[in-house]
Amino acid sequence: MESIDLIIQASYFLAAVIFILGLKQMSSPITARRGIVWAGAAMVLATLVTFAAPEIIGSSLATINIGLIVLAILIGGLFAWVTGKRVAMTDMPQMIAMYNGMGGGAAAAIAAVELIKAVNEAGHDPSGSATVATALGGDVAILGIIGAIIGTVSFSGSIIAWAKLDGRLKRNKLLPAQHVINAVIALATVVIAIGIYFNADLNQIILFYVLALVLGIFITIPVGGADMPVIISLFNALTGLAVGFEGYVLGNAAMIIAGIVVGSAGSLLTHLMAVAMNRSVANVFFAGVGTDSGGSIDSSALGEMKEIQAQDAGILMAFASQVIIIPGYGMAVAQAQHKIWEMTQLLTERGASVKFAIHPVAGRMPGHMNVLLAEAGVPYDMIYDMEDINADFKNTTVSLIIGANDVVNPSAKSDSSSPLYGMPILDANESENVIVIKRGRGAGFSGVENPLFFGDNTKMLFGDGQKAANELIGAIKELG
Ligand code: NDP
Repeated sequence: MESIDLIIQASYFLAAVIFILGLKQMSSPITARRGIVWAGAAMVLATLVTFAAPEIIGSSLATINIGLIVLAILIGGLFAWVTGKRVAMTDMPQMIAMYNGMGGGAAAAIAAVELIKAVNEAGHDPSGSATVATALGGDVAILGIIGAIIGTVSFSGSIIAWAKLDGRLKRNKLLPAQHVINAVIALATVVIAIGIYFNADLNQIILFYVLALVLGIFITIPVGGADMPVIISLFNALTGLAVGFEGYVLGNAAMIIAGIVVGSAGSLLTHLMAVAMNRSVANVFFAGVGTDSGGSIDSSALGEMKEIQAQDAGILMAFASQVIIIPGYGMAVAQAQHKIWEMTQLLTERGASVKFAIHPVAGRMPGHMNVLLAEAGVPYDMIYDMEDINADFKNTTVSLIIGANDVVNPSAKSDSSSPLYGMPILDANESENVIVIKRGRGAGFSGVENPLFFGDNTKMLFGDGQKAANELIGAIKELG
Protein backbone atom coordinates (compact mmCIF):
# COMPACT_ATOMS: atom_id res chain seq x y z
CA MET A 1 0.00 0.00 0.00
CA GLU A 2 2.89 2.31 0.87
CA SER A 3 4.46 2.15 -2.59
CA ILE A 4 1.05 2.94 -4.14
CA ASP A 5 0.80 5.96 -1.88
CA LEU A 6 4.26 7.06 -3.02
CA ILE A 7 3.27 6.69 -6.67
CA ILE A 8 0.07 8.67 -6.04
CA GLN A 9 1.91 11.52 -4.29
CA ALA A 10 4.63 11.58 -6.99
CA SER A 11 1.94 11.70 -9.70
CA TYR A 12 0.17 14.57 -7.93
CA PHE A 13 3.48 16.41 -7.75
CA LEU A 14 4.11 15.79 -11.46
CA ALA A 15 0.56 16.97 -12.29
CA ALA A 16 1.15 20.14 -10.26
CA VAL A 17 4.45 20.85 -12.06
CA ILE A 18 2.86 20.34 -15.51
CA PHE A 19 -0.09 22.50 -14.44
CA ILE A 20 2.21 25.37 -13.43
CA LEU A 21 4.27 25.07 -16.63
CA GLY A 22 1.02 25.10 -18.63
CA LEU A 23 -0.11 28.23 -16.82
CA LYS A 24 3.23 29.89 -17.53
CA GLN A 25 2.79 29.24 -21.25
CA MET A 26 -0.59 30.95 -21.19
CA SER A 27 1.16 34.28 -20.59
CA SER A 28 2.01 34.59 -24.30
CA PRO A 29 -0.46 34.26 -27.20
CA ILE A 30 2.15 32.23 -29.09
CA THR A 31 2.32 29.46 -26.48
CA ALA A 32 -1.13 29.85 -24.86
CA ARG A 33 -2.80 27.07 -26.85
CA ARG A 34 -0.08 24.60 -25.84
CA GLY A 35 -0.37 25.78 -22.22
CA ILE A 36 -4.08 24.91 -22.16
CA VAL A 37 -3.32 21.39 -23.45
CA TRP A 38 -0.60 20.91 -20.80
CA ALA A 39 -2.85 22.10 -17.97
CA GLY A 40 -5.63 19.82 -19.25
CA ALA A 41 -3.25 16.84 -19.37
CA ALA A 42 -2.19 17.55 -15.77
CA MET A 43 -5.86 17.57 -14.73
CA VAL A 44 -6.43 14.21 -16.44
CA LEU A 45 -3.37 12.74 -14.68
CA ALA A 46 -4.50 14.01 -11.25
CA THR A 47 -8.03 12.67 -11.85
CA LEU A 48 -6.88 9.22 -12.99
CA VAL A 49 -4.46 8.84 -10.08
CA THR A 50 -7.27 9.62 -7.62
CA PHE A 51 -9.00 6.35 -8.62
CA ALA A 52 -6.05 4.45 -7.12
CA ALA A 53 -6.26 6.30 -3.78
CA PRO A 54 -6.71 3.91 -0.83
CA GLU A 55 -9.76 5.94 0.37
CA ILE A 56 -11.49 5.10 -2.92
CA ILE A 57 -10.20 1.68 -3.92
CA GLY A 58 -9.77 0.35 -0.37
CA SER A 59 -13.28 1.34 0.77
CA SER A 60 -15.99 -1.28 1.25
CA LEU A 61 -18.09 0.84 -1.11
CA ALA A 62 -15.38 0.94 -3.80
CA THR A 63 -17.66 -0.16 -6.66
CA ILE A 64 -20.36 2.38 -5.81
CA ASN A 65 -17.80 5.16 -5.26
CA ILE A 66 -16.03 4.52 -8.56
CA GLY A 67 -19.37 4.23 -10.37
CA LEU A 68 -20.50 7.58 -8.95
CA ILE A 69 -17.22 9.29 -9.88
CA VAL A 70 -17.36 7.95 -13.44
CA LEU A 71 -20.99 9.06 -13.76
CA ALA A 72 -20.12 12.56 -12.48
CA ILE A 73 -17.16 12.77 -14.89
CA LEU A 74 -19.38 11.72 -17.80
CA ILE A 75 -22.12 14.24 -16.98
CA GLY A 76 -19.66 17.08 -16.28
CA GLY A 77 -17.43 16.20 -19.23
CA LEU A 78 -20.33 16.06 -21.68
CA PHE A 79 -21.76 19.36 -20.44
CA ALA A 80 -18.33 21.06 -20.65
CA TRP A 81 -17.59 19.59 -24.09
CA VAL A 82 -20.91 20.76 -25.58
CA THR A 83 -20.90 24.24 -23.98
CA GLY A 84 -17.17 24.72 -24.69
CA LYS A 85 -17.67 23.93 -28.38
CA ARG A 86 -20.70 26.17 -28.72
CA VAL A 87 -19.72 29.23 -26.71
CA ALA A 88 -19.21 32.46 -28.64
CA MET A 89 -16.05 34.45 -27.85
CA THR A 90 -18.27 37.25 -26.52
CA ASP A 91 -19.97 34.87 -24.07
CA MET A 92 -16.72 33.59 -22.60
CA PRO A 93 -16.93 35.58 -19.33
CA GLN A 94 -20.33 34.05 -18.48
CA MET A 95 -18.98 30.58 -19.18
CA ILE A 96 -15.98 31.21 -16.95
CA ALA A 97 -18.35 32.45 -14.22
CA MET A 98 -20.42 29.27 -14.48
CA TYR A 99 -17.45 26.86 -14.42
CA ASN A 100 -15.85 28.84 -11.65
CA GLY A 101 -19.03 28.66 -9.58
CA MET A 102 -19.03 24.88 -10.01
CA GLY A 103 -15.47 24.74 -8.61
CA GLY A 104 -16.49 26.77 -5.55
CA GLY A 105 -19.58 24.59 -5.12
CA ALA A 106 -17.47 21.42 -5.32
CA ALA A 107 -15.09 22.71 -2.63
CA ALA A 108 -18.07 23.63 -0.43
CA ALA A 109 -19.58 20.18 -0.99
CA ILE A 110 -16.35 18.49 0.13
CA ALA A 111 -16.45 20.59 3.30
CA ALA A 112 -20.11 19.66 3.86
CA VAL A 113 -19.31 15.94 3.64
CA GLU A 114 -16.42 16.29 6.11
CA LEU A 115 -18.49 18.38 8.53
CA ILE A 116 -21.40 15.92 8.45
CA LYS A 117 -18.97 13.04 8.97
CA ALA A 118 -17.54 14.89 11.97
CA VAL A 119 -21.03 15.43 13.44
CA ASN A 120 -21.77 11.70 13.08
CA GLU A 121 -18.46 10.77 14.64
CA ALA A 122 -19.04 13.15 17.54
CA GLY A 123 -22.52 11.62 17.99
CA HIS A 124 -20.89 8.27 18.73
CA ASP A 125 -18.59 9.69 21.39
CA PRO A 126 -19.56 8.07 24.71
CA SER A 127 -18.49 11.11 26.77
CA GLY A 128 -20.80 13.36 24.68
CA SER A 129 -18.20 16.13 24.73
CA ALA A 130 -16.87 15.66 21.16
CA THR A 131 -17.15 18.58 18.73
CA VAL A 132 -16.41 19.15 15.06
CA ALA A 133 -13.03 20.50 16.15
CA THR A 134 -12.11 17.39 18.14
CA ALA A 135 -13.48 15.02 15.47
CA LEU A 136 -11.60 16.62 12.56
CA GLY A 137 -8.67 18.17 14.40
CA GLY A 138 -8.58 21.91 15.11
CA ASP A 139 -6.55 23.03 12.07
CA VAL A 140 -8.51 20.85 9.64
CA ALA A 141 -11.84 22.06 11.05
CA ILE A 142 -10.84 25.73 10.78
CA LEU A 143 -9.59 25.47 7.19
CA GLY A 144 -12.53 23.27 6.20
CA ILE A 145 -15.05 25.79 7.54
CA ILE A 146 -13.27 28.80 5.98
CA GLY A 147 -13.10 26.91 2.65
CA ALA A 148 -16.82 26.16 2.99
CA ILE A 149 -17.72 29.86 3.38
CA ILE A 150 -15.49 30.97 0.52
CA GLY A 151 -16.57 28.15 -1.81
CA THR A 152 -20.28 28.69 -1.14
CA VAL A 153 -20.09 32.47 -1.60
CA SER A 154 -18.16 31.94 -4.82
CA PHE A 155 -20.74 29.37 -5.98
CA SER A 156 -23.88 31.49 -5.51
CA GLY A 157 -22.10 34.74 -6.45
CA SER A 158 -20.77 33.25 -9.69
CA ILE A 159 -24.24 32.05 -10.66
CA ILE A 160 -25.62 35.58 -10.18
CA ALA A 161 -22.66 36.94 -12.20
CA TRP A 162 -23.42 34.45 -14.97
CA ALA A 163 -27.13 35.39 -14.97
CA LYS A 164 -26.31 39.11 -15.14
CA LEU A 165 -23.76 38.81 -17.94
CA ASP A 166 -26.03 36.49 -19.87
CA GLY A 167 -28.82 39.08 -19.68
CA ARG A 168 -31.05 36.76 -17.60
CA LEU A 169 -30.99 39.02 -14.57
CA LYS A 170 -31.50 42.76 -14.91
CA ARG A 171 -28.84 45.11 -13.62
CA ASN A 172 -30.01 46.18 -10.18
CA LYS A 173 -29.98 49.52 -8.53
CA LEU A 174 -28.00 49.78 -5.31
CA LEU A 175 -30.44 49.54 -2.38
CA PRO A 176 -29.79 52.18 0.32
CA ALA A 177 -29.26 49.60 3.08
CA GLN A 178 -27.69 46.95 0.86
CA HIS A 179 -24.22 47.10 2.37
CA VAL A 180 -25.61 47.06 5.92
CA ILE A 181 -27.73 43.97 5.10
CA ASN A 182 -24.68 42.29 3.56
CA ALA A 183 -22.56 43.09 6.61
CA VAL A 184 -25.22 41.62 8.95
CA ILE A 185 -25.44 38.40 6.89
CA ALA A 186 -21.63 38.13 6.77
CA LEU A 187 -21.42 38.57 10.54
CA ALA A 188 -24.16 35.99 11.17
CA THR A 189 -22.35 33.50 8.88
CA VAL A 190 -19.10 33.95 10.81
CA VAL A 191 -20.88 33.57 14.19
CA ILE A 192 -22.55 30.32 13.04
CA ALA A 193 -19.20 29.14 11.62
CA ILE A 194 -17.61 29.57 15.06
CA GLY A 195 -20.60 27.72 16.54
CA ILE A 196 -20.02 24.79 14.16
CA TYR A 197 -16.41 24.51 15.31
CA PHE A 198 -17.29 24.30 19.01
CA ASN A 199 -20.37 22.04 18.64
CA ALA A 200 -21.51 19.06 16.60
CA ASP A 201 -24.89 20.19 15.33
CA LEU A 202 -26.30 19.38 11.89
CA ASN A 203 -28.85 22.22 12.03
CA GLN A 204 -26.06 24.75 12.48
CA ILE A 205 -24.32 23.38 9.40
CA ILE A 206 -27.49 23.69 7.32
CA LEU A 207 -28.11 27.26 8.52
CA PHE A 208 -24.45 28.11 7.84
CA TYR A 209 -24.69 26.98 4.21
CA VAL A 210 -27.99 28.80 3.64
CA LEU A 211 -26.50 32.04 5.01
CA ALA A 212 -23.32 31.68 2.92
CA LEU A 213 -25.41 31.08 -0.23
CA VAL A 214 -27.50 34.19 0.49
CA LEU A 215 -24.31 36.18 1.18
CA GLY A 216 -22.88 35.30 -2.24
CA ILE A 217 -26.12 36.37 -3.92
CA PHE A 218 -26.42 39.63 -1.97
CA ILE A 219 -22.78 40.59 -2.51
CA THR A 220 -23.07 40.15 -6.27
CA ILE A 221 -26.50 41.60 -6.99
CA PRO A 222 -25.60 45.28 -6.44
CA VAL A 223 -22.30 45.09 -8.37
CA GLY A 224 -22.55 47.08 -11.59
CA GLY A 225 -22.65 45.30 -14.92
CA ALA A 226 -19.39 46.89 -16.08
CA ASP A 227 -17.61 45.51 -13.03
CA MET A 228 -18.87 41.96 -13.44
CA PRO A 229 -15.68 40.58 -15.11
CA VAL A 230 -13.64 41.86 -12.14
CA ILE A 231 -15.98 40.13 -9.72
CA ILE A 232 -15.78 36.91 -11.76
CA SER A 233 -12.01 37.05 -11.58
CA LEU A 234 -12.20 37.61 -7.81
CA PHE A 235 -14.57 34.67 -7.36
CA ASN A 236 -12.13 32.65 -9.44
CA ALA A 237 -9.38 33.50 -6.94
CA LEU A 238 -11.70 32.63 -4.03
CA THR A 239 -12.63 29.29 -5.60
CA GLY A 240 -8.92 28.49 -5.90
CA LEU A 241 -8.42 29.31 -2.24
CA ALA A 242 -11.43 27.20 -1.19
CA VAL A 243 -10.11 24.25 -3.24
CA GLY A 244 -6.68 24.68 -1.60
CA PHE A 245 -8.22 24.66 1.91
CA GLU A 246 -10.32 21.60 1.18
CA GLY A 247 -7.21 19.95 -0.29
CA TYR A 248 -5.64 20.39 3.15
CA VAL A 249 -8.73 18.83 4.76
CA LEU A 250 -8.46 15.79 2.46
CA GLY A 251 -4.66 15.69 2.61
CA ASN A 252 -4.59 15.97 -1.20
CA ALA A 253 -1.41 17.68 -2.44
CA ALA A 254 -2.67 18.18 -6.01
CA MET A 255 -5.71 20.09 -4.74
CA ILE A 256 -3.59 22.24 -2.44
CA ILE A 257 -1.13 23.22 -5.19
CA ALA A 258 -3.74 23.71 -7.94
CA GLY A 259 -5.95 25.70 -5.55
CA ILE A 260 -3.13 28.00 -4.49
CA VAL A 261 -2.01 28.54 -8.10
CA VAL A 262 -5.57 29.41 -9.19
CA GLY A 263 -6.01 31.58 -6.11
CA SER A 264 -2.86 33.61 -6.75
CA ALA A 265 -3.39 33.86 -10.54
CA GLY A 266 -6.98 35.00 -9.95
CA SER A 267 -5.88 37.58 -7.38
CA LEU A 268 -3.26 38.99 -9.77
CA LEU A 269 -5.77 39.20 -12.61
CA THR A 270 -8.30 40.94 -10.35
CA HIS A 271 -5.64 43.42 -9.31
CA LEU A 272 -4.59 44.03 -12.94
CA MET A 273 -8.18 44.69 -14.02
CA ALA A 274 -8.81 47.05 -11.11
CA VAL A 275 -5.57 48.95 -11.86
CA ALA A 276 -6.49 49.21 -15.56
CA MET A 277 -9.75 50.87 -14.50
CA ASN A 278 -7.97 52.94 -11.85
CA ARG A 279 -10.26 51.51 -9.18
CA SER A 280 -9.74 49.62 -5.97
CA VAL A 281 -11.29 46.17 -5.63
CA ALA A 282 -13.36 47.54 -2.70
CA ASN A 283 -14.68 50.27 -4.99
CA VAL A 284 -15.64 47.65 -7.58
CA PHE A 285 -17.61 45.79 -4.89
CA PHE A 286 -19.33 48.74 -3.33
CA ALA A 287 -19.62 51.55 -5.89
CA GLY A 288 -22.23 50.00 -8.17
CA VAL A 289 -20.71 51.41 -11.38
CA GLY A 290 -22.75 50.38 -14.39
CA THR A 291 -25.99 50.10 -12.45
CA ASP A 292 -28.98 51.92 -13.85
CA SER A 293 -27.69 55.15 -12.33
CA GLY A 294 -25.76 55.52 -15.63
CA GLY A 295 -23.56 58.43 -16.58
CA SER A 296 -23.60 62.06 -15.68
CA ILE A 297 -23.52 63.46 -19.23
CA ASP A 298 -26.62 64.72 -20.96
CA SER A 299 -26.22 63.82 -24.64
CA SER A 300 -28.33 66.80 -25.80
CA ALA A 301 -25.65 69.16 -24.41
CA LEU A 302 -22.96 67.51 -26.53
CA GLY A 303 -24.28 68.59 -29.94
CA GLU A 304 -24.66 66.43 -33.02
CA MET A 305 -22.81 63.33 -34.18
CA LYS A 306 -21.51 63.74 -37.74
CA GLU A 307 -22.03 60.83 -40.09
CA ILE A 308 -19.65 59.63 -42.81
CA GLN A 309 -20.20 57.06 -45.56
CA ALA A 310 -17.81 54.14 -46.12
CA GLN A 311 -16.70 55.61 -49.48
CA ASP A 312 -15.41 58.83 -47.89
CA ALA A 313 -14.01 57.05 -44.85
CA GLY A 314 -12.10 54.70 -47.20
CA ILE A 315 -10.58 57.64 -49.09
CA LEU A 316 -9.55 59.34 -45.84
CA MET A 317 -7.72 56.22 -44.69
CA ALA A 318 -6.25 55.34 -48.09
CA PHE A 319 -4.36 58.64 -48.17
CA ALA A 320 -3.40 58.64 -44.49
CA SER A 321 0.25 58.41 -43.48
CA GLN A 322 -0.59 56.76 -40.16
CA VAL A 323 -3.73 54.87 -39.11
CA ILE A 324 -4.32 53.54 -35.59
CA ILE A 325 -7.05 50.93 -35.24
CA ILE A 326 -8.77 50.66 -31.85
CA PRO A 327 -10.81 47.51 -31.46
CA GLY A 328 -13.40 47.05 -28.70
CA TYR A 329 -16.16 44.75 -27.62
CA GLY A 330 -18.22 45.50 -30.77
CA MET A 331 -15.47 44.08 -33.01
CA ALA A 332 -15.81 40.81 -31.10
CA VAL A 333 -19.62 40.86 -31.46
CA ALA A 334 -19.36 41.55 -35.20
CA GLN A 335 -16.46 39.08 -35.65
CA ALA A 336 -14.91 41.79 -37.80
CA GLN A 337 -11.25 40.99 -37.04
CA HIS A 338 -10.64 39.14 -40.34
CA LYS A 339 -12.03 42.00 -42.45
CA ILE A 340 -10.09 44.53 -40.40
CA TRP A 341 -6.86 42.61 -41.06
CA GLU A 342 -7.68 42.46 -44.81
CA MET A 343 -8.23 46.23 -44.77
CA THR A 344 -4.98 46.75 -42.84
CA GLN A 345 -3.02 44.86 -45.51
CA LEU A 346 -4.52 47.06 -48.25
CA LEU A 347 -3.55 50.21 -46.34
CA THR A 348 -0.03 48.91 -45.70
CA GLU A 349 0.39 48.10 -49.41
CA ARG A 350 -0.53 51.73 -50.13
CA GLY A 351 2.30 52.87 -47.85
CA ALA A 352 0.36 53.79 -44.69
CA SER A 353 1.76 52.92 -41.29
CA VAL A 354 -0.95 50.93 -39.49
CA LYS A 355 -0.92 50.09 -35.78
CA PHE A 356 -3.40 48.45 -33.42
CA ALA A 357 -3.97 50.03 -30.00
CA ILE A 358 -5.20 47.73 -27.24
CA HIS A 359 -6.67 49.03 -24.01
CA PRO A 360 -6.12 46.63 -21.08
CA VAL A 361 -9.88 46.24 -20.50
CA ALA A 362 -11.10 46.47 -24.11
CA GLY A 363 -13.73 43.81 -24.69
CA ARG A 364 -14.89 41.73 -21.79
CA MET A 365 -11.70 40.03 -20.60
CA PRO A 366 -8.07 41.06 -20.42
CA GLY A 367 -6.43 39.89 -23.65
CA HIS A 368 -9.80 39.59 -25.43
CA MET A 369 -8.73 41.78 -28.37
CA ASN A 370 -5.23 40.24 -28.60
CA VAL A 371 -6.79 36.79 -29.00
CA LEU A 372 -9.14 37.97 -31.76
CA LEU A 373 -6.40 39.81 -33.67
CA ALA A 374 -4.03 36.83 -33.33
CA GLU A 375 -6.80 34.58 -34.67
CA ALA A 376 -7.10 36.84 -37.73
CA GLY A 377 -3.33 36.71 -38.33
CA VAL A 378 -2.36 40.24 -37.26
CA PRO A 379 1.40 40.15 -36.46
CA TYR A 380 2.25 40.86 -32.81
CA ASP A 381 4.62 43.71 -33.73
CA MET A 382 1.66 45.72 -35.06
CA ILE A 383 -0.18 45.48 -31.74
CA TYR A 384 0.59 48.09 -29.06
CA ASP A 385 -0.40 48.39 -25.43
CA MET A 386 -1.99 51.62 -24.27
CA GLU A 387 1.08 53.10 -22.58
CA ASP A 388 3.24 52.39 -25.65
CA ILE A 389 0.95 54.04 -28.17
CA ASN A 390 -0.81 56.92 -26.43
CA ALA A 391 1.93 59.41 -27.35
CA ASP A 392 1.52 58.43 -31.02
CA PHE A 393 -2.07 59.61 -31.46
CA LYS A 394 -1.09 63.23 -32.05
CA ASN A 395 0.97 62.12 -35.10
CA THR A 396 -1.89 60.06 -36.50
CA THR A 397 -3.99 60.93 -39.54
CA VAL A 398 -6.90 58.61 -38.76
CA SER A 399 -7.88 56.71 -35.64
CA LEU A 400 -10.36 54.01 -36.64
CA ILE A 401 -12.44 52.91 -33.66
CA ILE A 402 -14.33 49.70 -34.25
CA GLY A 403 -16.83 48.69 -31.57
CA ALA A 404 -14.91 50.41 -28.77
CA ASN A 405 -16.55 53.01 -26.57
CA ASP A 406 -15.65 53.27 -22.86
CA VAL A 407 -11.93 52.75 -23.52
CA VAL A 408 -11.79 55.93 -25.65
CA ASN A 409 -14.17 58.03 -23.54
CA PRO A 410 -12.38 61.33 -22.72
CA SER A 411 -14.81 62.06 -19.86
CA ALA A 412 -12.73 59.50 -17.91
CA LYS A 413 -10.13 62.30 -17.81
CA SER A 414 -12.20 65.45 -17.70
CA ASP A 415 -15.44 64.75 -15.81
CA SER A 416 -14.88 63.99 -12.12
CA SER A 417 -18.55 63.03 -11.73
CA SER A 418 -18.28 60.32 -14.42
CA PRO A 419 -18.31 56.71 -13.21
CA LEU A 420 -15.36 56.22 -15.59
CA TYR A 421 -13.37 59.06 -14.00
CA GLY A 422 -9.77 58.06 -13.40
CA MET A 423 -9.74 55.15 -15.85
CA PRO A 424 -6.81 55.59 -18.25
CA ILE A 425 -8.02 55.77 -21.86
CA LEU A 426 -6.63 55.56 -25.38
CA ASP A 427 -6.16 59.18 -26.48
CA ALA A 428 -7.84 58.75 -29.88
CA ASN A 429 -9.31 62.26 -29.57
CA GLU A 430 -5.81 63.69 -30.12
CA SER A 431 -5.53 62.35 -33.67
CA GLU A 432 -6.26 64.47 -36.75
CA ASN A 433 -9.39 62.46 -37.69
CA VAL A 434 -11.44 59.92 -35.80
CA ILE A 435 -13.74 57.43 -37.54
CA VAL A 436 -16.06 55.42 -35.29
CA ILE A 437 -17.74 52.24 -36.48
CA LYS A 438 -20.75 51.28 -34.35
CA ARG A 439 -24.36 50.35 -35.03
CA GLY A 440 -26.14 53.23 -33.34
CA ARG A 441 -25.90 56.15 -30.97
CA GLY A 442 -26.00 54.10 -27.74
CA ALA A 443 -23.56 54.32 -24.84
CA GLY A 444 -20.82 51.79 -23.96
CA PHE A 445 -20.86 49.02 -21.38
CA SER A 446 -20.68 51.44 -18.45
CA GLY A 447 -23.79 53.25 -19.73
CA VAL A 448 -21.91 56.56 -19.98
CA GLU A 449 -22.25 58.92 -23.00
CA ASN A 450 -19.05 59.42 -24.98
CA PRO A 451 -18.23 63.08 -25.86
CA LEU A 452 -15.60 61.86 -28.37
CA PHE A 453 -18.39 60.84 -30.75
CA PHE A 454 -19.58 64.47 -30.85
CA GLY A 455 -16.10 65.93 -31.42
CA ASP A 456 -15.28 68.22 -34.38
CA ASN A 457 -12.74 65.77 -35.80
CA THR A 458 -14.98 62.69 -35.32
CA LYS A 459 -17.16 61.04 -37.99
CA MET A 460 -19.54 58.17 -37.31
CA LEU A 461 -19.68 55.25 -39.73
CA PHE A 462 -22.89 53.59 -38.57
CA GLY A 463 -23.38 49.88 -39.15
CA ASP A 464 -22.38 46.42 -38.06
CA GLY A 465 -18.60 46.16 -37.64
CA GLN A 466 -18.03 43.42 -40.21
CA LYS A 467 -20.26 45.01 -42.83
CA ALA A 468 -18.64 48.42 -42.36
CA ALA A 469 -15.12 46.93 -42.56
CA ASN A 470 -16.11 45.15 -45.76
CA GLU A 471 -17.41 48.41 -47.25
CA LEU A 472 -14.15 50.13 -46.32
CA ILE A 473 -12.22 47.39 -48.13
CA GLY A 474 -14.39 47.95 -51.21
CA ALA A 475 -13.83 51.71 -51.06
CA ILE A 476 -10.03 51.36 -50.72
CA LYS A 477 -9.86 48.80 -53.53
CA GLU A 478 -11.80 51.12 -55.85
CA LEU A 479 -8.99 53.64 -55.55
CA GLY A 480 -6.72 51.11 -57.25
P1 NDP B 1 -17.91 49.01 -24.78
O1 NDP B 1 -18.66 47.87 -24.22
O2 NDP B 1 -17.76 50.22 -23.96
O3 NDP B 1 -18.57 49.47 -26.16
C1 NDP B 1 -18.77 48.56 -27.19
C2 NDP B 1 -19.41 49.30 -28.34
O4 NDP B 1 -19.50 48.37 -29.42
C3 NDP B 1 -20.82 49.76 -28.04
O5 NDP B 1 -20.85 51.16 -27.91
C4 NDP B 1 -21.66 49.26 -29.22
O6 NDP B 1 -22.36 50.35 -29.81
C5 NDP B 1 -20.62 48.71 -30.20
N1 NDP B 1 -21.07 47.48 -30.86
C6 NDP B 1 -21.75 46.44 -30.35
N2 NDP B 1 -22.00 45.52 -31.28
C7 NDP B 1 -21.47 45.98 -32.44
C8 NDP B 1 -21.41 45.47 -33.76
N3 NDP B 1 -21.95 44.31 -34.11
N4 NDP B 1 -20.77 46.21 -34.70
C9 NDP B 1 -20.22 47.41 -34.37
N5 NDP B 1 -20.25 47.94 -33.13
C10 NDP B 1 -20.87 47.23 -32.18
O7 NDP B 1 -16.53 48.40 -25.26
P2 NDP B 1 -15.03 48.71 -24.89
O8 NDP B 1 -14.28 47.55 -25.42
O9 NDP B 1 -14.67 50.08 -25.34
O10 NDP B 1 -14.99 48.75 -23.32
C11 NDP B 1 -15.01 47.59 -22.51
C12 NDP B 1 -15.88 47.78 -21.28
O11 NDP B 1 -15.93 46.57 -20.53
C13 NDP B 1 -15.33 48.84 -20.36
O12 NDP B 1 -16.38 49.51 -19.71
C14 NDP B 1 -14.57 48.01 -19.36
O13 NDP B 1 -14.36 48.67 -18.14
C15 NDP B 1 -15.48 46.85 -19.22
N6 NDP B 1 -14.76 45.74 -18.65
C16 NDP B 1 -13.82 45.07 -19.38
C17 NDP B 1 -13.04 44.13 -18.78
C18 NDP B 1 -11.95 43.43 -19.52
O14 NDP B 1 -11.19 42.72 -18.87
N7 NDP B 1 -11.84 43.61 -20.81
C19 NDP B 1 -13.19 43.78 -17.38
C20 NDP B 1 -14.20 44.55 -16.70
C21 NDP B 1 -14.95 45.46 -17.34
P3 NDP B 1 -23.69 50.07 -30.65
O15 NDP B 1 -24.61 49.33 -29.76
O16 NDP B 1 -24.15 51.43 -31.05
O17 NDP B 1 -23.27 49.25 -31.84
